[in-house]
Amino acid sequence: MPKTQKKSSNCIKTGFECSFCGKVVKNEATFIRHSCKQKKKIDDRNNVPNRIAYQAYSRFYTRNKKTAPDISNFESSKVYGAFVRFGEFVVLNKVSSIEIFIDYVIASKRGIDKWCDISLYTDFLASMAKSETWDRAIERNIYIMQEWATKNNREVKNFYREMTPSGLVHVISLGKVSPWTFMLSESGQDLLAQCNSEQLSIINKIFDFKIWKHRFSIEKSNVECAKKFLSEEGL
Ligand SMILES: [Zn+2]
Repeated sequence: MPKTQKKSSNCIKTGFECSFCGKVVKNEATFIRHSCKQKKKIDDRNNVPNRIAYQAYSRFYTRNKKTAPDISNFESSKVYGAFVRFGEFVVLNKVSSIEIFIDYVIASKRGIDKWCDISLYTDFLASMAKSETWDRAIERNIYIMQEWATKNNREVKNFYREMTPSGLVHVISLGKVSPWTFMLSESGQDLLAQCNSEQLSIINKIFDFKIWKHRFSIEKSNVECAKKFLSEEGL
């Protein structure tokens, strides 16, 4: 067939077709550069925030149903962007118990747009700390101190000694340390004493000092064990 006769719609369609949006481009270089909403979503699937977003979406939609929604349902859903923002929030705040946090925000019955409120995360940290036993809290905190010591070539016993008051506010806001260590160790208490009223009020919002002092007054034998352990560690 002569070339001129090939100007049929079939011929126009030969080229490179995006399987997501259906756009057809003539040359390969343009095709490689081609980006559309759908293609970008697929490219982003393996990003950590996107994986968390899909995990949260699946958990949200399978509360009462057995089957998890397909990832393509997720990507075409109206709430895709909001869930990805939630995933980014989880990554940014280095949330350590991601699954528990997802269940917590779902149980809060707040809309997805409210899941990134810092106050919700603060409440979560407080409730986690409440349910954590003293030995588990200390074990978890010591692990974090060991990580810090190895990374910075320091000694675990100096974790709070080499920290500034604003550093303490920071690790508390990240949920890294528990009152079981910073309120009961000598070095933690020294550091708390250096905090100004603004810093103390931030800490108090996460770990209400009144509640924790009350808890320590009830769990007397645990407090003794914790203090003994922390002092043996030189903390
Ligand atoms: Zn496309």
